[in-house]
Amino acid sequence: MSECPDCSCSDFDKCLRILNLLLDDEADETQEEFFYSHIDKCIVCFSHYNAEKQIRELLKRKLQKRKVPSQLALDIRNKIVQ
Ligand SMILES: [Zn+2]
Repeated sequence: MSECPDCSCSDFDKCLRILNLLLDDEADETQEEFFYSHIDKCIVCFSHYNAEKQIRELLKRKLQKRKVPSQLALDIRNKIVQ
């Protein structure tokens, strides 16, 4: 989990940590600022951000309707992160 497969991002671990905080609404202002200015420049973290966001939305929908196959979130993650 600590190695980014194809990435030139030197802060990948930190970004991932903040990304998860953000999506859980637990990031503080400093972390938020850091992250959003970072994904302006860093396509790796930007695509992770989008992928994670979509996965969260899917999971939310799944919890509401219980109809989305659990494999789907994984498929989407693979498609986007590749
Ligand atoms: Zn990055």
